[in-house]
This record gives sequence, structure tokens and C-alpha cells, in this order.
Amino acid sequence: MNGEPRGAATTMRVGLFGGSFNPIHLGHLRAAEEDRETLGLDLVYFIPAAAPPHKSGEDLAAAEHRLAMVQLATKGNRYFMVSEAEVRRSGPSYTVDTIRYFIRTARAKPEFFLIMGGDQFAELETWKEADEITRLSNLAVHTRPADRADEPEPRLLATLERFGYSAKEDFFVNPSGHTLTFVATTFFPVSATLIRRKIAAHQSIRYLVPGDVADYIERHALYRAGR
Ligand code: ATP
Repeated sequence: MNGEPRGAATTMRVGLFGGSFNPIHLGHLRAAEEDRETLGLDLVYFIPAAAPPHKSGEDLAAAEHRLAMVQLATKGNRYFMVSEAEVRRSGPSYTVDTIRYFIRTARAKPEFFLIMGGDQFAELETWKEADEITRLSNLAVHTRPADRADEPEPRLLATLERFGYSAKEDFFVNPSGHTLTFVATTFFPVSATLIRRKIAAHQSIRYLVPGDVADYIERHALYRAGR
């Protein structure tokens, strides 16, 4: 017995990992896997953005293609799910709307963990209703091993202070009670930009993305005109 009432259901822990995934690559997948393991998440939803608010004018593949590649990349992992929430919603894909959608539609009442890289966390202030995001959800920020969890780099520290997080054991907590955990992952220095540039330069992208994703990109002739 662990002190919990008999039959009490444990709260599901669900990760929400949004991005343009243009295309999804092994950096995204490995980070999500380590976030899941470290935080004991029951599921991680990959949520491709329809129109990412922070990215315009780049070589953005159609949402259907990016969604299909995320589905191919995650299909062998029983903890990984794909959500069409943002792709199906019209207008720019704001994270705060997505979190509200998940809270509204979840059958049980899971604990949500918004997953992002340190680069995104450092820019959180510019996101729509950023304060609300930190009040609605826990955050899991995966960092390069150099950004030690107990000693975040100044950029990350400034964001922590801005959102009222204070240190507690090996995580941070804000006045709403939601946590922020820095997860030091095995960081693959790969980006979707690098992959698009390689394709445009007729270079191989094998072993930077899952094989099925490389095949899909080739079959649909994506990113050939890239920038
Ligand atoms: P682009 O190069 O087009 O800007 P990207 O590779 O940064 O794309 P996004 O889809 O913009 O990918 O990122 C989605 C999320 O994945 C963000 O939270 C970002 O911080 C994170 N991320 C991006 N690259 C990596 C990586 N190599 N390892 C871990 N996380 C990453």
C-alpha cells in the first residue's frame, strides 16, 4: 500500500510538443523520447502547426505533408501520438489556444507538460498570452547538456524570473503551482532549416530524419526550391 485510496486513478501525464516540423527530424524525436522518460509522461502528442506565428516567408511545406511526415516518424512508438488540432484550426496556430483545446477536450483530467527547446523558451515572452500558458500547463524545456538544469544560462534565467518561477528541488514552480523542468537531453545539432538547405543543395538527408520521412520527401519532391 502506498497510502493512496484503493482504486484511486493516477493522473495521466501528457506531453504537448508543437512545432512547424518542416520537416520533423531526429533531434525532435530523441528530445521527445528523453523528455518522456525523464518526466514519466504517459503520452506525447506531436502537434504540427498550421501557420506558425513566428515563421513566415520560409519554405513551409503544406500542412498535410508535414502532418504525414510526423505520422510516419512516430508510428513505431506507442507513447507518441499525433494531433491534428492546429492543422484543422483556421488562422495562426497559437499555443495558448492549443493548450485550452486539450484541457477542454481531455476525458480525464491529465497533467499537461508543454514541451519545447531552450531556444523557444528564451522567446516565450513574445508568444500570445504567454503568462496564461505558464498558468495553464507545466513546461518541459529540453536543453543542451551545457545548460545545466540547476544553473540555467542567463537567457533562460531571465525568462524564469519574468514568469515568476522559483527554484524547488530539481525543478521550478510558479505561483499557479505549475512546474518548469529543464531536461538535459542528448542534443542532436540538427534543424529543419539545415535539412531544407541540404535538399536544395542536392545533398543527402539520410540519418538526419527517419528513413520513411526521407522517402516521403523524395517521393513528393519537397523542399527542392528551398532557401
Ligand atoms: P527550423 O530550422 O525550421 O526553425 P526546427 O528544427 O527548429 O525548425 P521546429 O519545428 O521549429 O524545428 O521546432 C519545434 C520544437 O523542436 C521547438 O520547441 C524547438 O525548440 C525544438 N527543436 C528544434 N530543433 C531541435 C533539436 N535539434 N533538438 C531538440 N529540440 C529541437
